[in-house]
Amino acid sequence: MVSEATAGRLIRGVWYAPQTSRAVEASLVLETGGRLTAQDEAGAALASCEFSAAEVSDRVGSIARRITFADDSVFETGDNDGIDRLLAPVAKPGSGFVHSLERFHPRLALFVVVVALLAVAIYRFAVPVLVEVAVLVTPPVVPVLLSSSTMATLDGTVFEPSKLDAETQKNIADDFRDLASVSARGSDGYTLNFREGGHIGPNAFALPDGTIVLTDELVKMANDHQTVLGVLAHEIGHVDHEHSLRQIYRAAGVTGLILLIGGDVGAGVEDILIQGSALLQLRHSRSAEAEADRFSIELMHRTGNDPLAISRFLELIRDKLGDTSDSDFLSTHPATPSRIEETRRYAEELMAAATD
Ligand SMILES: [Zn+2]
Repeated sequence: MVSEATAGRLIRGVWYAPQTSRAVEASLVLETGGRLTAQDEAGAALASCEFSAAEVSDRVGSIARRITFADDSVFETGDNDGIDRLLAPVAKPGSGFVHSLERFHPRLALFVVVVALLAVAIYRFAVPVLVEVAVLVTPPVVPVLLSSSTMATLDGTVFEPSKLDAETQKNIADDFRDLASVSARGSDGYTLNFREGGHIGPNAFALPDGTIVLTDELVKMANDHQTVLGVLAHEIGHVDHEHSLRQIYRAAGVTGLILLIGGDVGAGVEDILIQGSALLQLRHSRSAEAEADRFSIELMHRTGNDPLAISRFLELIRDKLGDTSDSDFLSTHPATPSRIEETRRYAEELMAAATD
């Protein structure tokens, strides 16, 4: 008999006796205690067994569901939702079809997680590898083109010729040549350009072909020959480690890099290479800055200059420009306390080792 409690849970469908294809109008009920029964219009049981002994087909789209009783007779219905609702109280996770329904969501979540991890992996591992490959296969003409277009853009828009007196320029240029002569490219590998910075203000930056720009404003702000040299040594470090080129390639993204390495210099890649001014908007990573700082300290030390110059300069921009300044130089060369401390510690370490 159908109890009061389960009377509402009644699914309409058809029933097939074992080994026949003759359909009988029937309904399916779940009795208290978990017994499944297919009954005819008059309420007489056609087949009945414990839920655990019945086999319920998985839900696949709107395909009719089949419940196979222990006696091999089959109840079939298109009322998928009704079946799910009816059987929900008795279906245990891990047993039967409801389990596979529940599994659907964790599986989707897992898929999303895997895709996200893959994307992270591409950015963490594929991009750095592609960047290194791109740097390796970059024809020497590319950095030259990049740099000359950047200089042309800047000279046409923000820069004015330097107003530093000839003697100051000569002193800086001479010592710059000494610094450059002991670095990887040699003194011919670098060109120092003096400019009045305009809205770029106190700044120094290196372009990938070894072109280094020093603004009058920076020389005035530093107000100390050694400090200026420390900054120039830092910029030589950026060139030596090919930071700018890496930076550009990183910004090109996976697609750009693949096109670039594949030699398909289409419009997109040309944009990346010709839009030289984009170079200035790129920020070096913190690790690139740290690398250039160490380079400056080592180079200054090796050439008999003051290895602490770069720390002094960082302190200067911290004090003069303040943390809230939106100066390009500060944003591209953040003078964080840890950076100041790092450079100071490393310079003192080098000096101590030298006197031992
Ligand atoms: Zn830097």
